[in-house]
Amino acid sequence: MTHPLPHFPYHPDPVATGAVVPSEEGCVRCGQARGFLYSGPVYTGENLDDRLCPWCIADGSAAERYDAHFTGGFLGDRNVDASVREAVDRRTPGFSAWQEPQWFFHCGDGAAFLGCVGAAELADHPEAIQVLREEAGDWGWPADQVEHYLASLDKDGEPTAYLFRCRVCGTHLAFSDFS
Ligand SMILES: [Zn+2]
Ligand SMILES: [Zn+2]
Repeated sequence: MTHPLPHFPYHPDPVATGAVVPSEEGCVRCGQARGFLYSGPVYTGENLDDRLCPWCIADGSAAERYDAHFTGGFLGDRNVDASVREAVDRRTPGFSAWQEPQWFFHCGDGAAFLGCVGAAELADHPEAIQVLREEAGDWGWPADQVEHYLASLDKDGEPTAYLFRCRVCGTHLAFSDFS
């Protein structure tokens, strides 16, 4: 993480995840071309795709100016302070998913988003696989179908899993989706 980007506690390396990309273009909010733009979803009234810089997300000015937020919904711990949800939703780069992206909360805090993963990347995180197994089980699928689904998860294709790490207890969490 040598990029001179703002610090995002809930999205530690948005360049690695692809949410922030190198760009020569200027930011629509601050007018500055600082070498990077945000390429994830922007929930607001106008199309701001690839038009905001990470600095205007970090300081909340983009969210304030455009009444924007950056994630689709919340998963996990519901007992979270509103200020934490706001920090995740309005001052953190989001990420693109096949369906509406969801942000995991755990231990009363927002989890750190680590990126899109498939079965190969998940092999190191059995606790995240278990979360995904329970998610698919909740869809009413039989066990063998669930295991086939877990084995088919693909970082670049679909279905895809989205990996998080709790900032408090360190456990890994994930959800998955497909188009
Ligand atoms: Zn800006
Ligand atoms: Zn935790």
